[in-house]
Amino acid sequence: MTNDQKLEKMRYLPKWKCGNCGKEYTLENFLRLTIVKMVESDTDQQNEHGFVCDCGYRFFLDTLRIHDTIDIKTDRGYVTILVSTAFLELNHGNRDGKDVWFETMVFAGGFEDEEVEWLKCDLVHRYETKKEAIKDHDKIFNLLKMGKFKIEDYPYDEHKKVLIICDE
Ligand SMILES: [Zn+2]
Repeated sequence: MTNDQKLEKMRYLPKWKCGNCGKEYTLENFLRLTIVKMVESDTDQQNEHGFVCDCGYRFFLDTLRIHDTIDIKTDRGYVTILVSTAFLELNHGNRDGKDVWFETMVFAGGFEDEEVEWLKCDLVHRYETKKEAIKDHDKIFNLLKMGKFKIEDYPYDEHKKVLIICDE
């Protein structure tokens, strides 16, 4: 590989990838794909429709999402912790020349309106491959199951606590 090719690989290239066949699209090509309603009531093609890969995979709707929940005991009662791993579809930059396609995050309570106000978790892990993502997802979930976590004061907000998963 020449230096120019290396530099090209290191550069952040926004691109989309099908979660089924693996085909990659530049933004320009992505926007040319067939569109489909996200839910039956969609009427606005600009804002409410999603894109479909040549293989039939519907972006966003068909993406891989792994959700595991576990109840942990805290001094304010039990809290359901959600470990969520997803295929991102849009390349989220690169690390050491590798694309970032998968992400694991941990939510106290659940998503959005279910989230517990007082407990945060800052964990965000990103990976290139599905294999790495699933392995780490399972590891995080198992650490929670084994009680290998701690809850400490949140440095940015005195009313909140932070959940730290202990990777030891
Ligand atoms: Zn595809």
